[in-house]
Amino acid sequence: MTSHLRPLSDSTWAWLHDDRTGWGWSNCGVVASEGTALLVDTQFTLAATRNLLDAFVGALPGVRIETVVNSHQNGDHTWGNQLLPDAEIVTSSASAAHLCHEMNPAQLTALCQAAPSSAVVSYAAKHFGGFDFTGVEVMPATRTFTGREEVKVGTVLVELLDLGPGHSAGDVAVHIPDEGVLFAGDAIFSGMHMVVWSGSLDACVRSCQSILDTGAETIVPGHGPVLDRVGVTEFRDYLLRVGESADAYARAGVPLDEAARRVRDEHGQSWAHPERLYTATAGAYRDAGIQGVPEGTFALVEGMAGLAT
Ligand SMILES: [Zn+2]
Repeated sequence: MTSHLRPLSDSTWAWLHDDRTGWGWSNCGVVASEGTALLVDTQFTLAATRNLLDAFVGALPGVRIETVVNSHQNGDHTWGNQLLPDAEIVTSSASAAHLCHEMNPAQLTALCQAAPSSAVVSYAAKHFGGFDFTGVEVMPATRTFTGREEVKVGTVLVELLDLGPGHSAGDVAVHIPDEGVLFAGDAIFSGMHMVVWSGSLDACVRSCQSILDTGAETIVPGHGPVLDRVGVTEFRDYLLRVGESADAYARAGVPLDEAARRVRDEHGQSWAHPERLYTATAGAYRDAGIQGVPEGTFALVEGMAGLAT
């Protein structure tokens, strides 16, 4: 596996993983100036976060990480927080409030190690069974914000943007306006399909638009290669097309499982994880006012597992 800290502008870097389209390999961001730094997200495991921090020390010796911004509460963005015990951990109020609904490391490990009697256990074991969560303690945010907040990292202005629900119940983007760089968290995926945990596909489209509205030119997604504005626009338009298809099926009374199958066949493209279109279809069904749409992490993973078989 090759992971590297790639410079994006005078004061920003992205932690990226080559050839990693699987679950759990999230990108991180660094903003550094005048001996101080802000880190956007940590990694899924302690080993992966140590790898990131070693690369950080190698590239920016003597620079101190004083702030960690968590783009949302999924473990692949937060379960390394404990390795930065002196840093302030910041996220939006909506994101922080959702922490109690997340699967914790023990629950995820137990799911992966359960007897593979169902599609959901096999799916979890296949995609998450290779990660070792030993020693992970979930560290919540030490400070929250709503709306938009400006912070200074050395001499660099950084905007924290509360995107609201979309990928998760509360997503946060980190924008460096003077350098045209934005760290999007999982509001954007690149080279792979969107996961809609929040229950609203419309909200995901709005988040993409909010990101485009910042004017940023270099957008680091939560997973996959760095994008430009054209890439983010294409991603937004893909979500719109998926939403149009799913909405038509909802109005025609097509059951969700069947609709998700058709949406996958129509929009699966060549991206990784077309089974995630189950969550996008479910989000569109909720947006259309359909009752009884599954919600919550386990039910949505179950739906994806069903579509993957
Ligand atoms: Zn993620």
